[in-house]
Amino acid sequence: MARNKMLRFTTLEQEYPSKRPAELRREDFEEIYSAFEPKAAEDQASRCEQCGIPFCQIHCPLGNNIPDWLMLTANGRLEEAYAVSSATNNMPEICGRICPQDRLCEGSCVLEQSDHRSVTIGAVEKHITDTAWAEGWVKPRTPEKENGFSIGIIGAGPAGLAAAEQMREKGYAVDIYDRYDRVGGLLMYGIPGFKLEKYVVERRVKLLQDAGITFHPNTDVGKDITFADLRAKHDAILIATGVYKARMLSCPGAGLTGVKRALDYLTASNRTDLGDTVEEFESGVLDAKDKNVVVIGGGDTAMDCVRTAIRQGAKSVKCLYRRDRDNMPGSQREVSNATEEGVEFVWMAAPEALLGDEDNRVTAVRAVRMHLGVADSSGRQTPQPIEGSQFNLDADLVIEALGFEPEELPVLFEEPELAVTKWGTVKTDHKTLMTSIPGVFAAGDIMRGASLVVWAVKDGRDAAERMDEYVRAAAEQTAGEPSKLARAS
Ligand SMILES: Cc1cc2nc3c(=O)[nH]c(=O)nc-3n(C[C@H](O)[C@H](O)[C@H](O)COP(=O)(O)OP(=O)(O)OC[C@H]3O[C@@H](n4cnc5c(N)ncnc54)[C@H](O)[C@@H]3O)c2cc1C
Ligand code: SF4
Repeated sequence: MARNKMLRFTTLEQEYPSKRPAELRREDFEEIYSAFEPKAAEDQASRCEQCGIPFCQIHCPLGNNIPDWLMLTANGRLEEAYAVSSATNNMPEICGRICPQDRLCEGSCVLEQSDHRSVTIGAVEKHITDTAWAEGWVKPRTPEKENGFSIGIIGAGPAGLAAAEQMREKGYAVDIYDRYDRVGGLLMYGIPGFKLEKYVVERRVKLLQDAGITFHPNTDVGKDITFADLRAKHDAILIATGVYKARMLSCPGAGLTGVKRALDYLTASNRTDLGDTVEEFESGVLDAKDKNVVVIGGGDTAMDCVRTAIRQGAKSVKCLYRRDRDNMPGSQREVSNATEEGVEFVWMAAPEALLGDEDNRVTAVRAVRMHLGVADSSGRQTPQPIEGSQFNLDADLVIEALGFEPEELPVLFEEPELAVTKWGTVKTDHKTLMTSIPGVFAAGDIMRGASLVVWAVKDGRDAAERMDEYVRAAAEQTAGEPSKLARAS
C-alpha cells in the first residue's frame, strides 16, 4: 500500500464528524455526533504534523501514542492503529467520545497553536476502536496462565474496570464488587446517552466477563459485605469507589420540594432510558417535562442536567453559574451544544434563596449578580455579589450540580486505619499507590477527587502494576504460597 502523505494540514481543513441538528437531538438520548466515514477519518488523521515533541501525547493522561495511530489511520492500517491505541487505553472509544479534548490532547496539538486548528484526535480514536469492534478485532484479554492469586476490586467504574482488565491479563482471578445493579459506575448512570450510549459500556463489560472477570453487582461494601471479609478473601484490594457525596445548597429554601440532587436526577433519567421503571420519574418528581428548570453549577454535571431537561421536554431550562463562561469548569464544547439545544445560561449570578408556595414547593430562585473580585491563593478571581442586583427566575425544578465529595470511607468500611486526606480522598503512597493498609490500593476519583474518565483509567492501570509488584513481592516472602497476603501483612 502506498504510504499516505502526512502534514496535510496546509491543504485540509479541520473537520469533526457531523452533529445531528439540535431540533432532532432534543427529541432523544442518542449520541449527537455521527461516525466518521473511513475516508474522512484518513484525511483528518493525515493532517498530523508528526512533530518531534508530540505535545498531544504529553497532555494525554494515558500518554497515548497519538502520532503513530494517526499515521497508521491515514494509511488505512486500522487494525495496527487499533493495536497501538489499545496498548495504552482500556476504553479508547469511550475516551474518544467523552474526554474534554479541548483541554487535553487537542488543546495541546501544535496545529491548535497556529491558525490551522488541531487534528481531531478524539474523533479519530473513536473511529479506530468502533471499527475494531465492528471488524471483530477487539478480543478478551485472557491470561496465558493463571497465577493462583486473587484480587478484589471495590467499584466497577472506569478505574476499577481498567485495573481489572490489566490484572486479569497478568493471570489474577479478579472479583469486582459494586453497589449498583449495573456495571460501569458513572459511565452507566452519571453520563447521559447523548454523550455516551450505553451499548458502548455494555460491550466492554461483556468483554471483561469473557476474559474471566467476576462481577458482584448489588454488593454494597460496608453493608452487604464487610471490608474485612474482602481483605480475608483476596491477596490485594483496590478501592475504586468514586465520589458520591453531593455538595448541597445552604441558602434559605434549600429543603423545598422540587429541589433535587444532580446525580439522582441523571441516574433516574439514565435508568429510564435503559428501560427501568423509576418510581420518582414516573411520579414526575425527577421528570422535567413541562417544568421551568434551573440548574445550579457550571461543571460537566450541570451541562448534562440542562441537556437532559431539554430532552425531557422542559418548559424552560436555565443554568445559573456564579462565574463567566471563560471561568467555568465544564467543557466549552458542551456549553455550545447546550446553547444550540435551547439552554439559557445565566452567567455571573448565584442563588441567594429558593422561594416556595404554601405547600413548600419551590417556585423560583432568587439570584444575585456577581462580579469577579481579587484572585484567591489559587489565582482564581473570587465572585462577589453586587449589592441590590437581585432578580428571580421561575422554577418548578431546581437541580443542585455543585460537585461531589468522597463518602467517609473509614466509617463506611469500619476501617479506622484507612488514612484519608483533609478532603476525604483516600491517601496513597505516591510511588506504591498503596493506602495506609498493606495490600490495599486506591484509584480514580476516590483517590484524586472528582476528575475525568481518562484519569480514572490511568489510575486503574497504574494501580494494577503496583498491585502486581506487591503481590509478587509478598509471595516471595511467603515462599510463593498464594495465600491471603493482604490479610497476612
Ligand atoms: C454527571 C457526570 C458527567 C461526567 N461527564 C464526564 C465526561 O464527559 N468526561 C469525563 O472524562 N468525565 C466525566 N465525568 C467524570 C467521570 O465520570 C469520573 O471521573 C469517573 O467516572 C471516575 O471513575 P471511578 O472509577 O473513579 O468512579 P465511578 O465511575 O464513580 O465508579 C465508582 C463505582 O464504585 C461503586 N461504589 C461506590 N461505593 C461503593 C461501595 N461501598 N461498595 C460497592 N461499590 C461501591 C459505585 O456504585 C460506582 O459504580 C462526569 C461525572 C459526572 C458525575
Ligand atoms: S484518551 Fe483522551 S486525552 Fe488521550 S488521546 Fe484519547 S481523547 Fe485525547
